[in-house]
Amino acid sequence: MNEVTPVEQSAVAAVDPSCARAPVGMLCELTHRCPLQCPYCSNPTDLERVATELTTEEWQSVMRQAGELGILQVHLSGGEPTVRKDLEEILEAAVKAGLYTNLITAGVTINRERLMKLAEIGLDHVQLSIQDVDSENADRISAYKGGLAKKIEVSQWTKEAGMALTINAPIHRQNIHNVPRMIEFAIECGAGRIEIAHVQYYAWALLNRGSLMPTRESFMTAAKQVEEAREKYKGIIVIDMVVPDYYAKFPKPCMGGWAKQILNVTPQGRVLPCHAAESITHLTFDNVKDRPLADIWLNGDAFNKYRGTEWMKEPCRTCPRKEIDFGGCRCQAFALTGDATNTDPACSLSPMHDEWAKVAEVESHSTPPDFIYRRVGGAKVTVGGAKEPVPGE
Ligand code: SF4
Ligand code: SF4
Repeated sequence: MNEVTPVEQSAVAAVDPSCARAPVGMLCELTHRCPLQCPYCSNPTDLERVATELTTEEWQSVMRQAGELGILQVHLSGGEPTVRKDLEEILEAAVKAGLYTNLITAGVTINRERLMKLAEIGLDHVQLSIQDVDSENADRISAYKGGLAKKIEVSQWTKEAGMALTINAPIHRQNIHNVPRMIEFAIECGAGRIEIAHVQYYAWALLNRGSLMPTRESFMTAAKQVEEAREKYKGIIVIDMVVPDYYAKFPKPCMGGWAKQILNVTPQGRVLPCHAAESITHLTFDNVKDRPLADIWLNGDAFNKYRGTEWMKEPCRTCPRKEIDFGGCRCQAFALTGDATNTDPACSLSPMHDEWAKVAEVESHSTPPDFIYRRVGGAKVTVGGAKEPVPGE
């Protein structure tokens, strides 16, 4: 099970492990299965089926190759990573490869015994997502009953096991009024950090943009509340905030720059420069089953396509911010302009920006449509819909 495969041997040959260009982090989507159905999920709308997922040995090989490449952190994500029965074996390989390990979980499918076991193996950090602090609203958003109570237990077990804890709170129109309570919730859970992460409008969130887009006024109120809480809870909790693109002047440096800091491995083993990259339909992606991870990172077509700044057009090409935000998000530029080399319309210097920003104003003031819940086939159900079995999972 633990032999070095031919793929791994050529990976070692292909890259100097001290390579300054090694990614900092690797996001591993171990599975797209998840009992929750959040309408803003960042997984692709075309979810990958269980039968096509990488095997235990293949994931272990990915971990070893990541260590050899010089990656520092691995984020074990999904879907819900704890639905993989072999999570312990994959984690063991990551720990053995010297990676800092972070489990990104919704927390509803793990018990105390298993979490303690993961801590014993060497899990460093748990990132626990919440849908809201109002349990009824949380049930409605996730189409799953009773999730919040389970998350409180998981936070307690995480602290008991001595692991670091971050609360991840995706924010949108239907929970933004609870930002101060979410920060208090994170403190009560013993988290060292909370991420107030305004939903980014790709994949499922783009389908649900009309139900999720907050008004500019509610965004400004939440931003002020975060500032006040940072002052009030200084030294107690770190509060990070991800701003919604639609209300920003300049875009975020998406993924810290294309193929600069992070890579993403899908459940089937395709290696992407960002989790949404497959939405750029003319790109092709290599698979860890066919090519060494290091070779894909350094030489893969999709990675080199928008790496650096050479590919940029005006206004980015001569802009003083081009090494700061790298022209924003390629996927958003492609989705909204049809050309991934265009400036992200989130930028106020984009010729499309004003028209684009109007969309947010209009949608945020309209009656929110029903959620399209995240599930295979993306079936439409009412906002009050309860959990139903997810086909194909
Ligand atoms: S965002 Fe929601 S549906 Fe998507 S993986 Fe996380 S918990 Fe599951
Ligand atoms: S023009 Fe391009 S590089 Fe300049 S701020 Fe806008 S997105 Fe960034």
